[in-house]
Order: sequence, then structure tokens, then C-alpha cells
Amino acid sequence: MGDNMVARILWKKITCAAVCLAMAAALFGCGNGGTGSETSVTSQESTQTTPATPAASDKVVLLIDPGHDSAHPGATGIGGVKEEDLTLQVGKMLEEQLQQYSNVEVYMTRETSACPYPDAGGSVEDNRARCAYAEEIGADFMISLHFNSGSGDATANGSMILIQNTNYEPTYNQMGQDLGGRILGNLASLGFANRGFQTKDMTDDVEPEQQTYPDGSRSDYYAILHHAKLHHVPAIIVEHGFITNQEDLDRISGTENLQKLADADAQAIVEYFGLVK
Ligand SMILES: [Zn+2]
Repeated sequence: MGDNMVARILWKKITCAAVCLAMAAALFGCGNGGTGSETSVTSQESTQTTPATPAASDKVVLLIDPGHDSAHPGATGIGGVKEEDLTLQVGKMLEEQLQQYSNVEVYMTRETSACPYPDAGGSVEDNRARCAYAEEIGADFMISLHFNSGSGDATANGSMILIQNTNYEPTYNQMGQDLGGRILGNLASLGFANRGFQTKDMTDDVEPEQQTYPDGSRSDYYAILHHAKLHHVPAIIVEHGFITNQEDLDRISGTENLQKLADADAQAIVEYFGLVK
């Protein structure tokens, strides 16, 4: 964790309560864009940066978000494999890995297949509630775990990271690249093609207040990235691979492979935040 990160965390802890109260009114009625159909958009080249240094004090607070749930199931892959089952398995393995480190607190948005916010409503509202939880626990980063679907194209393959755009909280984009680049590198070493980073701005077909952040800049399309930013939490969506592509699925299926994915995520997180045992 570099100086910028430390300063940001301190600033956040001091000012968060006031800022968040002010923001709360803006949250309701906002939001569109689930993470169910992850495709398209602005690609950015994958970059690696210098390793972050450990924090002198204060634990890193991480929120792991196994994407989807039994009420919001996400993609279905070859042989009927379900995205929400895979994300939960990887999420639990990742949690267990990270809990071995002393300077981190790890939280999960869900530990079972059940929707964590059954009264929230649809997928966007569910994701919005997960992002509110991220702020509630003081998360320094929210890592949302997903698997991709080719939407009929069985050749679509590879890993990619969806990151927040440069609007409103402009540092989050680079933070996403720094952490995400490490994850992409680790996944590439497991054989996944590296599709790089993507951002996607909100589309015009939602209410005007959902199209922009409070400063008037264009909001992020994906609900997790959009609402995490409104809650002042950097977030990334990790699309580990395509469960509709046989070669990718061969690298995903089974406990041993899922553990490798969790290890890939964990190692990147350990390096980025300078976690120590
Ligand atoms: Zn998904």
C-alpha cells in the first residue's frame, strides 16, 4: 500500500461519515446496468506498475463479492454450470487465503447461495446494497468475482477486468488497473488469454439522474462499479474466464482449478496491498 493509499484511507476515515450522509440522498433512484451481460466497451491496455509498499499501520479492509446469487443467477455455461456457484466457491477460497495475513480484514457480501438482500429488489438494487455494505465496513477495495458468457459465441474466451471510469473519483481507474493488472497477469500464467481492462460509461436509456455522478460527469454503466463509486469505494469486476468456452471451462472446472483462480486473485491482492503474515 503506497503513500497515496494511506493518505486516501486516512482522509476517508476522517471525512467519510459527512460525505456519505450527504451522498445518501443521491443514491436512491440511481443505478442501472447489472453485471449479467458483461461485454463490449472501451478496452485499455493491461499495465503493471511498481509494487505497493506495506502500510505502517491500520489494516486493509477488503470486501469480496461473489457475483450474483440464486435469485440473480448470472451466466449459465457449458453443461449447465452456473456462474453464481463458481463465484461463491472462488470467493470462499479467496477469503480463506487472505485471512492468513495479519494486516487485512476480509468481508464477504455473501457466504451462501441465497441473495444477501432479498428485500432489495432486482439485480441493480441487490448490487447497490452490496456497495452500501462496502462503505459500511469501511472497505478500501471491493473485488467482485465473475465468470463471463459469450452470449452465443462459444469462441469468446479469456480474462478481463472491468474497472471504474476516470470520472468523479478519478484515482479509482488507475487503482483498478494496478490491482487488476496483477490479477490478469496471474490468470494469464494459468493459460487464460488476457483481454485487458474495460470501462463502460452509462448509456442514454436510463433516467438523466442515473447517467451522471453528483459532479455531473458520466457515471459508470455496471452497477457494482457505479454504486461502489457513489459509496467512495474503489472496485473492480474480475471476469476470470468464459464458462461458455470449452478451453476456458477446462481451466475453471473442479476444486483444484478453482483454487488456482483464488490463488491468482489472492497473490495479486497480497502484492498490491503489501499484506504480511
Ligand atoms: Zn457476472
